[in-house]
Amino acid sequence: MYFCTFKMDTFFVDVILPLHIHDTYTYRVPQEYNDVICVGQRVVVQFGPRRLYSAIVRRVHTEVPRYMVKYVLSILDIQPIVDEKQLKFWEWIADYYMCYVGDVMAIALPSAFRLASESSVSIHPDYSGELSDLTDMEMRVVQLLTEHPVMTVDDISRAIGLQKMMPLLSTMIEREIIVMDEELRQRFVPRTTTYLTLAPAYKEQGKAKELFDSLERKKSTQKQVDVLMKFMQLSRFGEVSVPKRTMLDTTDGKPISDSALKTLIKNGVLLQEEHVESRLEQYERTTSAEDIELNSEQQAAYEYLSRGEKPVSLLHGVTSSGKTEVYIKLINDTIAKGDQVLFLLPEIALTAQIINRLRKYFGDLVGVYHSRFSASQRAEVWNRTRDEDPANRYQVLLGARSALFLPFRRLGLVIVDEEHDSSYKQYDPAPRYHGRDAAIYLAHLWGARTVLGSATPSLESYYNAKQGKYGLCEMTHRYGGLLMPEVLCADMKEEASRIRRERGEQAVAGTTHFSQFLLDHIKQALADHEQVILFQNRRGFSLRIECDDCHWTPQCQHCDVSLVYHKATNSLRCHYCGYSIPLPTECPACHSHHLSMKGFGTERIEDDLSIIFPDAKVARMDLDSTLQKNRYLEIINDFQDRRIDILVGTQMVTKGLDFDHVSVVGIVSADNLIYFPDFRAFERAFQQMTQVSGRAGRHGHRGKVIIQTFNPYHQAIRNVIDNDYQSMYQSQITDRRVFRYPPYYRLITITMKHRDSDVLNEAAARFAGELRGVFGTRVVGPEYPSVTKVRGLYLKNIMMRFERTEAIAEAKRIMVEMAEKLKGDKSLSPLQIHFDVDPQ
Ligand code: ADP
Ligand code: ZN
Ligand code: ZN
Repeated sequence: MYFCTFKMDTFFVDVILPLHIHDTYTYRVPQEYNDVICVGQRVVVQFGPRRLYSAIVRRVHTEVPRYMVKYVLSILDIQPIVDEKQLKFWEWIADYYMCYVGDVMAIALPSAFRLASESSVSIHPDYSGELSDLTDMEMRVVQLLTEHPVMTVDDISRAIGLQKMMPLLSTMIEREIIVMDEELRQRFVPRTTTYLTLAPAYKEQGKAKELFDSLERKKSTQKQVDVLMKFMQLSRFGEVSVPKRTMLDTTDGKPISDSALKTLIKNGVLLQEEHVESRLEQYERTTSAEDIELNSEQQAAYEYLSRGEKPVSLLHGVTSSGKTEVYIKLINDTIAKGDQVLFLLPEIALTAQIINRLRKYFGDLVGVYHSRFSASQRAEVWNRTRDEDPANRYQVLLGARSALFLPFRRLGLVIVDEEHDSSYKQYDPAPRYHGRDAAIYLAHLWGARTVLGSATPSLESYYNAKQGKYGLCEMTHRYGGLLMPEVLCADMKEEASRIRRERGEQAVAGTTHFSQFLLDHIKQALADHEQVILFQNRRGFSLRIECDDCHWTPQCQHCDVSLVYHKATNSLRCHYCGYSIPLPTECPACHSHHLSMKGFGTERIEDDLSIIFPDAKVARMDLDSTLQKNRYLEIINDFQDRRIDILVGTQMVTKGLDFDHVSVVGIVSADNLIYFPDFRAFERAFQQMTQVSGRAGRHGHRGKVIIQTFNPYHQAIRNVIDNDYQSMYQSQITDRRVFRYPPYYRLITITMKHRDSDVLNEAAARFAGELRGVFGTRVVGPEYPSVTKVRGLYLKNIMMRFERTEAIAEAKRIMVEMAEKLKGDKSLSPLQIHFDVDPQ
């Protein structure tokens, strides 16, 4: 016998779990893995009494822990799936935004990479059923899933009895034999069109003629001749395929027989093919960025940004000034050097249009990544971002903030378009990070440049530019000599008195949400075959129901807010938790039947417009109307193709969408924007009004914007009318200094939650006291937020205010520690505390 005499090292790994927990956890590495274990791999570990998770290896070491640790059960990847830079980025987010690295991991990795014992799997809908390629084990999993369509990883392990089930399932997911259930629920369903083509046999010389002859001979096949004739016409004698619905279209006055068509298909003369509708998925590069001719302002901006004097620069260009063309030039230069580009947008709805513009220049080098994609699509984009083969690698990654977490190989440029947009901030759950600010840090990690672009920059970014921290270039003219829209006010006070004069007091209450002025403009636009966008920042039909006799208003059971009436479902709904009840027919307090509706949202506007303009096609774009997958794309498409005349929507319609035929934009209630209780209200109102105005009048003629307001002389409205960003900036920046707000101060909002309001009050008072002991007057509160209860939990806020010059990394660490300690107090349990750094 021969014995191995040297002693093998024992390795340990610290791993990150995709959970809301503190720190990393240590596991022991089985010696058989000694040669392969490395940082960034996924390993399967047991956490808690029974659960298995795929965790990420953060550190490999030989420091023996002082307590017994469990073994790593298996390794899922040979090649690490995240690299050191990504891990550093995760850690920065966790530190800066005061949350756990596990929180970051949970959103950073596509779910397909986050298999856990409670994940449920089922057979992939596209799986062919081919069994010959499967191993015995895989076959058993498939059989099991045929009998029980949805099972958890746990169930499968128990049924098959294989301890190390995860690596097997992970491979099966990769091979698209099975899917994680989450993916099924949100599966991307492409719209398909059936196309008809001529079977190859009939394309040969003379064959089609023979067919015609034989069909014409019999009376019973006459109808088939008609069908074939129409097909030959439309298909240019079989050269191209024809959509089936075009064949069946009767508007050309030549209806064909459906059954004759079916017969031709059955007999194999015409072939049916399903094509995925790809209006928005144009992959082919059709022009070259070199062919873009920039105007002088664009050229100056492009040259300035190319020099990259500062790592971060702000491109301030009015709406339609052609910022995208400048980006395209910069992207072109970056990828020519072999570097990748990250192009961020605040919202997915905006990606649709920009994808096409980018693909025109960069073809299939462009990858798109966002949360509305299915898990497998996301996994695919992830893999192609880091593909070793440059020919297969995406060079331009376009997406919403989650695209920050993609595994870049060589990042050279980050573009943050519409940088002012507050949707860049993730509000819930943790990590509550700001996409723009995190992007700047990511670029810094890579030594890459960042370009922030906006027509209405955030005060923070503009301030940084003015201070010389960021570079700055400005474009003040619209491209092609197009004029800025003409902005006009409709004075709603006058409107009300006019109605009162003409129709009496009673009439005022219900009808004042459209001024005659706005209606006249809409009418004119419709008469001219132009389109209209109306912006109202509230969704639903009426914002509140109120009893005329006792003023009772229905409230949510779980939240401290009134319920909003939605006509589509004839129900009252809570916009915080989704609680919903049918519309009451009488007041439960006094049994009165006089219930009236107060305030109005997008649904009401849509409804009223359809009555006022019965011939116009009106559509609505807001959270409710776009819940369904891809619905927002359809709305944008329909509007673009002019199947919609008037588009009503929330802030979704204000953002960088580019339509060709919008001549009128209406801001239905500007006062809602201006009198919002927030220190950013003025800035936001200006931004939203200016942005939505920018949708008016593209390609050729000057558009009109009508702002309905009771305060036509309000400064924010005047600034919009004059398109005067500078004056808005000056007035606001002064206020910010005086009232101690960003960018002069940094804010951190601490939100505490508990189901018992007494316990919460005690905890909040205690925490504020302890914080004051350390941070003194930097602590404000505790205060009740504007909504004091959500989903059955009472809320209280403490605001921390630090001077911009203070180093706050240490302060954050102390605050987190204090919070952990307070949460540990059994008498306050279960207390939740979360931090919102740089709240928006
Ligand atoms: P912004 O993003 O600044 O609002 P866009 O980039 O959407 O503006 O440009 C507005 C319109 O002008 C677009 O239709 C765009 O294609 C066109 N455009 C801008 N610059 C050029 C250029 N250099 N050559 C041709 N068309 C341009
Ligand atoms: Zn009542
Ligand atoms: Zn609620």
